Amino acid sequence: MYICPVCGYDKLREEPYDNDGNPSYEICNCCGFEFGYDDSSEGRNFETYRKRWIEKGASWFNLKARPVEWDLEKQLININTNI
Ligand SMILES: [Zn+2]
Repeated sequence: MYICPVCGYDKLREEPYDNDGNPSYEICNCCGFEFGYDDSSEGRNFETYRKRWIEKGASWFNLKARPVEWDLEKQLININTNI
């Protein structure tokens, strides 16, 4: 399992980017970020995406994957980030 660099979700099926920087195009179940569609010119880098996602209420992209007990702050520890 891999960790989402945007939200800290730790159950990505694929590595978001391989050693050559090729994206997986997987969409994070949690924040909905699609690896490969990060473009800082459009404000879709990890940090701005995370900020917007949290501002909008940090809702899950795939609600079925949402654990019953879920804590955003704990998850963000995975990527050494806090709110
Ligand atoms: Zn994510």
